[in-house]
Amino acid sequence: MLTKTQPDEIQDYLSDASYLKGGNASRVVFPETVEDIAKILADATQTQTPVTISGAGTGTVAGRVPLGGIVIATDRLNHIKSVSREDGGGTAIAEAGVRLIDLQRAVESEGLLYPPDPTERGCFIGGNIATNASGARTFKYGPTRKYVERLQIALATGDVIDLRRGELHADRNSLIRIPLPSGRFIEAKLPSYQMPQVRKHASGYYIEPEMDVIDLFIGSEGTLGVIVEAEMKLLPKPEGLLSGVVFFENEADLLAFVRDARERSLQNRVRSPSVSEGNSGRLDARALEYFDVESLRFLRQKYDTVPEKATGAIFFEQETDAAAEDEIMNQWLSLLERHHALTDQSWFATNEQDHAKLREFRHALPVLMNEWFARHNQRKVSTDMSVPDEAFAGMLRFYQDALRGGDLRYTIFGHIGDNHVHVNILPRNDDEAEKAWAIYRQFIQRAVAVGGTISAEHGIGKLKREYLRELYGDEHLREMAALKRAFDPAGILGRGTMFAESLLSLQESLR
Ligand SMILES: Cc1cc2nc3c(=O)[nH]c(=O)nc-3n(C[C@H](O)[C@H](O)[C@H](O)COP(=O)(O)OP(=O)(O)OC[C@H]3O[C@@H](n4cnc5c(N)ncnc54)[C@H](O)[C@@H]3O)c2cc1C
Repeated sequence: MLTKTQPDEIQDYLSDASYLKGGNASRVVFPETVEDIAKILADATQTQTPVTISGAGTGTVAGRVPLGGIVIATDRLNHIKSVSREDGGGTAIAEAGVRLIDLQRAVESEGLLYPPDPTERGCFIGGNIATNASGARTFKYGPTRKYVERLQIALATGDVIDLRRGELHADRNSLIRIPLPSGRFIEAKLPSYQMPQVRKHASGYYIEPEMDVIDLFIGSEGTLGVIVEAEMKLLPKPEGLLSGVVFFENEADLLAFVRDARERSLQNRVRSPSVSEGNSGRLDARALEYFDVESLRFLRQKYDTVPEKATGAIFFEQETDAAAEDEIMNQWLSLLERHHALTDQSWFATNEQDHAKLREFRHALPVLMNEWFARHNQRKVSTDMSVPDEAFAGMLRFYQDALRGGDLRYTIFGHIGDNHVHVNILPRNDDEAEKAWAIYRQFIQRAVAVGGTISAEHGIGKLKREYLRELYGDEHLREMAALKRAFDPAGILGRGTMFAESLLSLQESLR
């Protein structure tokens, strides 16, 4: 098995897209089989060596930044084992290190769709499952969790388990009992918190009454075991797609348009939930993404066709078929007119070339912002909160009131269909950074107060764990740590991710 130890060889594995500095490890190992991984883990538990699991390193919260010990890189577990078609969809079996974009291409070439689509498509399937990644299409299709049917997981002790959805559940007292190949069982009590009632949530362990045990591992950010292989559910590939970037002069009109498009989509989906049934000409957005006035200011640097009068925009996508395309287009146009969009100056796409241009527009914003950070040598202050439906309008106003008219530059954009917009504050110097973090904390407190979550898709990692405490409180963090101990008795996996290492000491977990 390949092992790298030289500083210049392992440098890339000591950071991720959080740009947190200070990552360090004595070596990076590149296992090729589940047996390799089981052995590395059993040895590490024996010697109490910390282990950080590495996917593609596109995570934004420092989950894969190692704080000592060794790194298990999943790069060489990169085989798509099968893609098969079945009635009404299909199944793919992939190793953890398969890149999302490779899986999507393989699946699409079979006329199938793997819906999860975080914007950064170079990430690995294992990383996606470990963070329960979502993206623009989550509005229609939900997060990665919905597509995971089976997981092969290597535990810190070297035991390997295979969990298939539907086969193992927590009991009524929230106890789980997982049989191991050795004949032993892992027995553990689930934490007693209730997760926020939001459309997207990626903060802490997934807990539900009588939950499927497989769900505990999805979104566990490399703290409970190494995901080695996964079986994913696939859907039929839609025949066509309509997408648009539509501009508004007035923010109230834009928000009313979103409410209307959202409600109709949700209602129509209840009537015809399956893509294979076709959408029979009904409006049914699969993505509803927001750009505020400040985002458009950024984008005008690159796109001088953004209308002068526009104070906001929505990117939408809807799947179509040949029979329904015109009818669907007409429905969007009449909705846009009803809400006074700048329809004549908006952009629409029905073929792949034009869709790619609109997607590029959407992706340009993070790129332009990253260039800004590089110029000012600052880290971005970026929110990832989602709130319940009824709290969203108030939350957006809260963000705007805190930032509008002030000195700080910022953008607000993202997954408005899921009540989940990213507020990015762009400090130009350390003083501004301090102010930005103080505002960030107010946003966290507000999100928690209205029943929201502190991370809807990027996870907690090492950067947001103090805010997880605000969401759940110390007692629940202790319960999470005790649960982790049941799977990882030496506390080697993902140290510093989700909760402080001090919580993992034996005394703490016995309290
Ligand atoms: C420009 C940009 C846009 C993004 N857009 C989105 C978006 O729209 N939606 C979204 O959800 N995310 C988004 N992300 C975040 C990121 O792409 C996702 O979190 C992704 O799922 C991380 O995958 P990865 O393979 O890069 O994981 P890594 O960053 O390598 O790791 C992430 C975490 O998962 C753990 N892990 C990795 N592999 C395994 C494994 N096999 N077993 C157990 N644990 C493992 C790591 O230890 C770490 O804690 C974006 C990131 C960037 C840079």
